[in-house]
Amino acid sequence: MVDKVKKIWLDGEFIDWDAANVHVLTHSLHYGLAAFDGMRAYRRADGNTYVFRLREHVDRLFDSCKMCLLQPKFTREQIMGVCTEALRINGMTDGYLRPMVFIGSGAMGIYVPTNPIQTAVIAWKWGAYLGEEALKNGIRAKISSFARHHINVSLSKAKMNGQYTNSILAKREAKFGGYDEAILLDANGYVSEGSGENIFVVRKGVIYTPDLSCSILEGVTRDTVITLAREMGLTVQECRITRDQLWLADEVFLTGTAAEITPVREVDNRAIGRLATDHLIARGCRRIAHLRGPEIGISAERLEGYRRSLAKHGLRPHASYVLSGGHGDDAGYEGMKRLLRLRPAPDGVFCYSDPVAIGAIKAILDAGLKVPHDISVVGAGNVHYSDLLAVPLTTVDQGTCQIGARAAELLLERITLKGPARPKKILIPPKLVERESTRR
Ligand code: PMP
Repeated sequence: MVDKVKKIWLDGEFIDWDAANVHVLTHSLHYGLAAFDGMRAYRRADGNTYVFRLREHVDRLFDSCKMCLLQPKFTREQIMGVCTEALRINGMTDGYLRPMVFIGSGAMGIYVPTNPIQTAVIAWKWGAYLGEEALKNGIRAKISSFARHHINVSLSKAKMNGQYTNSILAKREAKFGGYDEAILLDANGYVSEGSGENIFVVRKGVIYTPDLSCSILEGVTRDTVITLAREMGLTVQECRITRDQLWLADEVFLTGTAAEITPVREVDNRAIGRLATDHLIARGCRRIAHLRGPEIGISAERLEGYRRSLAKHGLRPHASYVLSGGHGDDAGYEGMKRLLRLRPAPDGVFCYSDPVAIGAIKAILDAGLKVPHDISVVGAGNVHYSDLLAVPLTTVDQGTCQIGARAAELLLERITLKGPARPKKILIPPKLVERESTRR
């Protein structure tokens, strides 16, 4: 629920929240043609409130009106003034602003040249659009079965109200499927945007985002990210992006006024990035060690993931922070004792397995230190007792039971000759399960 504020501006005056009503014959309510925009105001360290890129948002509102053939009765300057006044009059130091231009009541039918063009500006408090947790740990997104409108079906550069029926369908489908957000492809099958956000993909140090010829809204936050990234010397390419490029990305994030900058941790159940080390970094660890277990193929892949995650975040791997050892808790205990003698000691450890992590936690506690306060620990495997420990363990769940069940099914299909004659590869993606050992 939106919390009521005192006043809403409608067609030239501030009126009480409860009085800001329109007639049920309001044309835009029936046919969806209207234009709106949205911006956030933030209170900054100097104590003043600033609307983030107010002019650009109001310019886009007027561009949307132009595309929709709506002629607002007010100027850009007037709307900008009303936006800041809406915050002041409602005593808000931060919040969200929603100017909207719509067709009022009068005639019905598609063509209504004489109906009044109405304008409203509404201010309300809006927290993290996808939730605080989303900003911290990222969201799970799903490619939608709904495509974004083809550029000649609707005007994707216009922030038109009716456009959002497409977004709502996609969002509902994603939420009903247990995901946080939908990512829509365009009519040609290329990545377009989220239901209310632009999208960025990072791979091998380059940032990619769909170019403006794609069916996307020209996001103000998108422009800000591109500008700042380029000023920082990063390479940003505006180009077509394919669905599989999302799966192979090192990072994916969504941008928008409401969503701000929200990391995406999974697309279609495929984990983005290297779960364990990324998680430790997201929890504030910077000196991350790796107890890599025995030097075998599987541990080599984990080591590679650890290195790539550090590199992605601009952290240098410290040779003495990577130790080989055995599979069990005794190896974890001994390895951790050696790590604790290093100066500086690590503040996070990614362990080859849960037993190694359990040994590592014991060594940390025996040294009089605290998990995760002094050192955070992540294991791998999600063994069934990993949540019953003195310090419940954050771990990467590899879906071992699922792997066993699918393997048995495949075997049965082969034995009963119902399945494919050739071996089949099924990928069961890992998931990070967060518990106390990293919850700082
Ligand atoms: N795409 C869509 C469909 C949106 O609704 C939004 C939110 N306005 C965005 C992208 C991001 O635009 P902005 O950064 O200007 O809010």
